[in-house]
Amino acid sequence: MAPSYYPMKTDYKCKYSKCPYGGVVSKDIAVKDGQNYYHPECFKEMNNRKQIIDIFYKYINKNEVGANLRRIVDLIIDSKKATSEFLLYALCYVIHHKIPLHHAAGLYYIINNDDIKQAYKKYKYKQMPKVDISKTEKAKDVKFEVKQDKKNSWDKILE
Ligand SMILES: [Zn+2]
Repeated sequence: MAPSYYPMKTDYKCKYSKCPYGGVVSKDIAVKDGQNYYHPECFKEMNNRKQIIDIFYKYINKNEVGANLRRIVDLIIDSKKATSEFLLYALCYVIHHKIPLHHAAGLYYIINNDDIKQAYKKYKYKQMPKVDISKTEKAKDVKFEVKQDKKNSWDKILE
């Protein structure tokens, strides 16, 4: 199905300007968006930041200065005060619970809100890890069983 020259090209340039992985993404894991390629993490990160800004304009304050909003979102995430996912979650929480937020600078306050932190912890607990844990446990179990069988059969031969 793939053109014959395809396997030659194993790496792409990750188009995320803040790519923390050196800007080169392997073909096997690259996420394609239009003509651009990204690490899955970079793609998620970029979209989280985009969504934060879009949601802020749509639901919080459409008159906020764009450069200011983008700068504050970047500052919060880049200084690791909050992950992009948590900031996005906090913003949605604020809208859903009608917590007052009017300006970009208010984002600094919502990431320190204990109610939001607790809600996020619960959300994370319910969401992601369960799938990963069950998958790795299953994979380990299978491998372990296979190894044991092999050992047993070798033991029998050697006896
Ligand atoms: Zn990247």
